[in-house]
Amino acid sequence: MLTVYNCIVNQHDPRLVALAALICGISSFSAANLLHHVARSTDRNRLTWLMIAATSTGFGIWATHFIAMLAFTPGIPNAYDPGLSVLSLAAAVVLTAVGMSVATLRGGIDHYLVGGAILGGGIATMHFVGMQAFEVQGRIVWNPLLVAISLLAGMTLAALAMLVVLRRPSLAATLGGAALLTLAICTLHFIAMAAVSIFPDSSIEISQYTVQPTSQAFAAAAASLVILVLSGAALWIDLRFHRHKLEADRMHGLANAAVEGLIVCDGTRVISANDSIARLTGMAAGGLDGMELGDLFGERAASDMSGFGGQPREAELRNRDGTTIPVELIARSIDYCGKPHNVVAVRDIRERKKAEEEILRLAHFDPLTGLANRRSFSSRLEAEIVSMNRAGKGGYLALLLLDLDRFKEVNDLYGHGAGDAMLQKVAHCAAGVLRHGQMIARLGGDEFAIIAPNLPDPLAAGGIADAVLAAMREENRLSAGGGLVSASIGIALFPLDAEDQTSLIGHADTALYRAKTEGRDTYRYFEASMGAEARDKRVMEHELRQAIARKEFHLVYQPQKEISSGRMIGFEALVRWRHPERGDVSPSIFIPVAEDSGAIAHIGEWVLTAACEEAARWENPLTVAVNVSAVQLHNPNFSRKVHETLLKSGLAPGRLELEITETALVKDMPRALATLRQVKALGVRVAMDDFGTGYSSLSNLRAFHFDKIKIDGSFIKSVDKNGQVAAIVRAVLGLGRGLGLPVLAEGVETLGELEFLDAEACEIGQGYYLGRPGPIEAFGELTGVTTPVVRPSTAGHGDRSIAALKPRLRSV
Ligand code: C2E
Ligand code: MG
Ligand code: MG
Repeated sequence: MLTVYNCIVNQHDPRLVALAALICGISSFSAANLLHHVARSTDRNRLTWLMIAATSTGFGIWATHFIAMLAFTPGIPNAYDPGLSVLSLAAAVVLTAVGMSVATLRGGIDHYLVGGAILGGGIATMHFVGMQAFEVQGRIVWNPLLVAISLLAGMTLAALAMLVVLRRPSLAATLGGAALLTLAICTLHFIAMAAVSIFPDSSIEISQYTVQPTSQAFAAAAASLVILVLSGAALWIDLRFHRHKLEADRMHGLANAAVEGLIVCDGTRVISANDSIARLTGMAAGGLDGMELGDLFGERAASDMSGFGGQPREAELRNRDGTTIPVELIARSIDYCGKPHNVVAVRDIRERKKAEEEILRLAHFDPLTGLANRRSFSSRLEAEIVSMNRAGKGGYLALLLLDLDRFKEVNDLYGHGAGDAMLQKVAHCAAGVLRHGQMIARLGGDEFAIIAPNLPDPLAAGGIADAVLAAMREENRLSAGGGLVSASIGIALFPLDAEDQTSLIGHADTALYRAKTEGRDTYRYFEASMGAEARDKRVMEHELRQAIARKEFHLVYQPQKEISSGRMIGFEALVRWRHPERGDVSPSIFIPVAEDSGAIAHIGEWVLTAACEEAARWENPLTVAVNVSAVQLHNPNFSRKVHETLLKSGLAPGRLELEITETALVKDMPRALATLRQVKALGVRVAMDDFGTGYSSLSNLRAFHFDKIKIDGSFIKSVDKNGQVAAIVRAVLGLGRGLGLPVLAEGVETLGELEFLDAEACEIGQGYYLGRPGPIEAFGELTGVTTPVVRPSTAGHGDRSIAALKPRLRSV
């Protein structure tokens, strides 16, 4: 230690020693700094940084050595061999490069230490080769122990310096590492110098090719300059790097806060991407760096990117698993880290696409059946007509309008769920029989339409209709509660029936109405004569719907009398429609229309309520008979409604009689019977109306315990003159007697008819002869409500005639 101390203090110029130490410190600080860059860089950058760091450090070691050598004053002539001096510089640079490369190759203490030791070896190699360049007029003797110590100290301190600098990069680590490296260089140098003893020998000549110490000083100064320049550059680069890193971190933080994916690109190469885009692609956050935009969005989208001009573009983002995600891209140019870059915002538009598809589906398809809707139907029909016009060749386009029969009943009876299921079934059946190029659409409610273009002849349209109806019948046959729904189809042909869309639809509609009125579960072609009739019916349907609200209905009452005594039994309530323009419309005309359209449900309810309320006001407890349509009878709520009406009106149930036709009964017998039993359980009486016109079946009479049979008026007409009709009436009267049922004869118009009925012991009569239907006020005497103002037209001849008739009848 003392030897080293003496060496520094006595054999060196302290000012130059201090200068050497300063240069060593600066170069070490620069080395520590540059090392960070080497450690952080990859590929080509790493090599560049390694070269800069090794050159700067190697020059620093070399300059330290030679300035320290200048400070060395052996007291005898000395000089330097230029070749060896350069070799020592090269050794310093190369070995420093190797050491730094090993230390920064991979993180890990072993690498730091080994790399540092190699760098220490570089310092030693430089020193001892440099000492070989030192020529002096004397003999140089080396102390091997001190040489070994210098080597050991230099390598250990360099290894530690590397460990400190690289293990946890920070300013303190840089400073600490730089101090240790300075110590390594200086320690090695001065201990190695202390190992040197020079014995002057004038016989030794200094070679003539050597460089004088003053020239060597210039070389050292130049080397120092190199270090200073490189250090300055490193510092500048370092500051810039930090600034860019800060900016990049800030941008990245900001980008990560964004919900949308953000990609920063240099041209088309990804520099940075935020977490959202990483999540979207299923890759790690940094995994996208270095990728090409073409890899992510396809070459076309990537090449388009420059021309975006801030306008959103749709593209497909390729996911890691090979799937694609629809995205919207907006590219903008930004200044990033001092250079113009492209930033691409990536918006996941899966939800939007889904919503768009849904909107599109809703706009063109019926959500319940999945069929095309009215809008798609119209545009397709239009397009087909245009195309057929343009093609100018033969062939027909058929438009089939399909409407379910009594669909309203299904809805009313079984609820809307069942109605919906029915519509889906119909859609399925109809769609199943269509050929390629034909289209079915749901126009709304229970209306469907089929477009069948390019048919070779009009009969082919009937074939389609047949197939649809057959498919529906088969479906009904197979389904549990089947048989309830059928369809009617109207067909119009282009260009045969109409040459434009509106008329074609109108004509198909007319044909549909004809199919409905002519039996249902069938189809009809349009015929020119159909138009006016169908239109009238349509208008009536529409008007009927508003008639209740407009108070256009009222009731008239027709007396029912005991034939033998002429005693008043009750009234049949008959609805009348006073149309503002047409005047009184007969129920025989509007009731079937109301039944078809479903309006009868409301009309029937109104009649029942009005009749019960009216009868409840009568002082005489006469019965009131109300006609009930099949639609009402099949409504599961009917008995409840009757009950409510009775309760509200206060009418005794025994005074109400419901008239049911046989046709209504057989339409859905189990359901009708169930309703009738419930009604009867309330104490309400039930009469079979119009007997003889329908099935006239004994089994129907036996199926339910009716309270009365009403023989249809058509059998009473001229019964006293027509033997055949008389036989029928007698048979029915016999049937009634057999079943223990009173029989009422309808439509008694003459005294002769009345006499016949009386002779045949028919209990009750109703007809113009016994009393025409009229407003209830006209029957005040009979009901006991007001002072009777009996009009001859309504009072009939019943009371007088039978009373007068009796003695004569008895005498016969
Ligand atoms: P209906 O139930 O058989 O009613 C008897 C029909 O015969 C009534 O015709 C009545 O005016 C008519 N009439 C009565 N006596 C005679 C006569 O001596 N000679 C002739 N030629 N006709 C006579 P209206 O009022 O035109 O009713 C026709 C049908 O309309 C009724 O036949 C009934 O089925 C239906 N209807 C009437 N009112 C209602 C109602 O409130 N609801 C329902 N569902 N149907 C009704
Ligand atoms: Mg009736
Ligand atoms: Mg009748």
